Amino acid sequence: MTRTAIVAGAAGFLGSHLVESLLADDWNVVGVDDLSTGSLVNVRAFRKDPRFRFLKRDLTKRVRLPSAEAVFHLASPASPPHYQRDPLSCLRVNSFGTGQLAEHAHASGARLFLASTSEVYGDPEVHPQPESYFGHVNPNGPRSCYDEGKRYAEALVAAWEREKGLDVRVARIFNTYGPHMALDDGRVVTQFLVQGFRGEPLTVHGEGKQTRSFCYVSDLIAGFRRLFDSSVKGPVNLGNPLTEMTVLELAEKVRELTGGRSTVTHIPRGQDDPERRRPDIQRAKELLGWEPKVPLAEGLQRTAEDVRSQLARASRAATRASRRTAEVAASEGGA
Ligand code: UDP
Repeated sequence: MTRTAIVAGAAGFLGSHLVESLLADDWNVVGVDDLSTGSLVNVRAFRKDPRFRFLKRDLTKRVRLPSAEAVFHLASPASPPHYQRDPLSCLRVNSFGTGQLAEHAHASGARLFLASTSEVYGDPEVHPQPESYFGHVNPNGPRSCYDEGKRYAEALVAAWEREKGLDVRVARIFNTYGPHMALDDGRVVTQFLVQGFRGEPLTVHGEGKQTRSFCYVSDLIAGFRRLFDSSVKGPVNLGNPLTEMTVLELAEKVRELTGGRSTVTHIPRGQDDPERRRPDIQRAKELLGWEPKVPLAEGLQRTAEDVRSQLARASRAATRASRRTAEVAASEGGA
């Protein structure tokens, strides 16, 4: 019998890749998204698939959802500029939104999958970060809406599990990149690629010595699916420990990949920006038999191709819009 999965955040970067993977395994999928940071372009490919249904819903308000066997909760802004633009919404979707999905999963008898984050470790004093590390988070800084929002979401689903027996899986996602990231996403990989293709300076925050480890999206989604199908309790780190590099090193790679026209410019760094980040993925390796496979060069190449085609689409749309404006101006002038 075909099973139904609700994917909250389906029109977002990770959500759309997850929908694709579930449809490929013959799930029925109900995609839910308020389109605040996601885009319908990301789910366009599934429009004609009878097993896919899209509901535009804001999970910070009470909504009615269909019964399902699986509920994947990926509904949250994840890019620092996005969540800092509207911290209250970020907190609401991770608190009220998570509670609502937990309640629904419990009522449906579904398993709940929570997309948590390496941000629960804050600016870590332990390196690399294992799941057992409790983190170093500023509870009222500009990143706290996301960090504490996700920590609360983890606490909430853990309480549902403990008190009500809800079946829960929790992934802690480390920096992930790939096709379907929006041009205005603001996270470092897309930001540098967009700037590189436009020949603009790459905006390195601070000296650029801070590190991140970058995981390609197909590897992450494979990890999601393994974790969901497993019986593993407690959070599991998913990310690529082999690619840790400084932001400056990433800028140099992207500069070369995009034709080498850009310079590097240094702009002020955000408060509480983590100094180092690399996942300890021992748990995922041992319990799920999972580890990332896609090398950075290959992942960056594929992401660059997607960014380039998004830029071409955006420029065609801008040309059409300015032509229409000119036509309207001409017809009004002639009237
Ligand atoms: N960053 C940067 N230039 C940019 C965007 C980001 O130097 O245009 C830096 C940012 O300050 C951080 C790192 O890149 O140190 C990763 O930022 P991102 O927003 O991708 O994700 P984070 O890991 O901070 O959530």
